[in-house]
Amino acid sequence: MARWNPFGSSDKKKSDDDSTQAKTQASRDSDSGNQPAPKKGLLGGIRQAMKKTMEVLNTDIRDLVKDEGRLVDDQFLDELYAYLIKTDMGNGPAAKIRDDIKSKYRARKMTLVQLIDSAKGTITGIMQQDTANINMAASGTTVIMVVGVNGAGKTTSIAKLVNLFKKQGKSVVLGAGDTFRAAAVEQLSIWADRMGAEIVTGRQGSDPASVAYKAVDTAIKSQADICIVDTAGRLQTQNNLMDELGRIRRVIQKVSADAPHEVLLVLDSTAGQNAISQARGFGEAAGCTGIVLAKLDGSAKGGVAIPIRQEFGLPVKFVGLGETPEDFAKFDVAAYVDALFDTT
Ligand code: GDP
Ligand code: MG
Repeated sequence: MARWNPFGSSDKKKSDDDSTQAKTQASRDSDSGNQPAPKKGLLGGIRQAMKKTMEVLNTDIRDLVKDEGRLVDDQFLDELYAYLIKTDMGNGPAAKIRDDIKSKYRARKMTLVQLIDSAKGTITGIMQQDTANINMAASGTTVIMVVGVNGAGKTTSIAKLVNLFKKQGKSVVLGAGDTFRAAAVEQLSIWADRMGAEIVTGRQGSDPASVAYKAVDTAIKSQADICIVDTAGRLQTQNNLMDELGRIRRVIQKVSADAPHEVLLVLDSTAGQNAISQARGFGEAAGCTGIVLAKLDGSAKGGVAIPIRQEFGLPVKFVGLGETPEDFAKFDVAAYVDALFDTT
């Protein structure tokens, strides 16, 4: 049983999606598709999802470092490490937290506040990333490709991205590149309809690269701000399907040489360690540029963002906090770390 689990459940909200008129080029450049997600989503959502953590921290970790403080000796360090590795933060980060505490406090007493401060500092250091912004095209249409295993949350995350971009007044063209299942095209079409995005589809079973080509071509010709290409779910171990992602990329490059500007890997945070092997498998094969950590709500394994960040250096760009298009937040290291170690 995991004892220090960073994320609990969330409340589900229903929301309607609004669409707005396209903005000018100037305002488009000024916000670069990177408007922060609503505060409620980031602070409220993550904090809400952290309730279990707070409870556990207020028991296990508080027990570990009683009110009067605790002598930092080998036994304490072993106990602390044992708690930490039970989360999905990974051995490396858990060892780093322990070793940082050891070097700062060894043979001295430390308080709970000092422990939390030190652990926060360590994790912040590991998680630090330049930015969670979407990498936008210098000019013209920004092309975003979305990849991941089946059921990770790709299509839902696309709907969330469309919602975000639409709120910024951007025009969006979607490419229904999951031609494998008819239901997948239908699902994306429904979102496109609801949110006022154009969609390019192909017949079921048709070549996903040709759908991607058509989508990007349509987006560029109609001077759309954003083109998002969905792809069929695949396992990182299916070499032929991983190669197909490379082919889709190359076909997109034929229409727009510097595209795709982002390849977002959607990971299901409830998958824990499996999400790490997905990041390993997809990272290079698909040329990923960033991660969307879906299903943080209700996941007991959201700590997995830490080893993913540490091992692959890929920035976590967004987190999914529920099933509606509003349940989405730009990833913020400070908010994440605060929520992870929130003992208030
Ligand atoms: P895909 O196969 O990768 O395209 O996955 P989908 O986008 O179809 O999502 C699979 C399931 O996960 C659906 O039932 C979604 O509603 C659900 N889902 C996606 N993202 C989230 C999230 O952030 N939180 C929760 N709770 N559910 C999500
Ligand atoms: Mg899908």
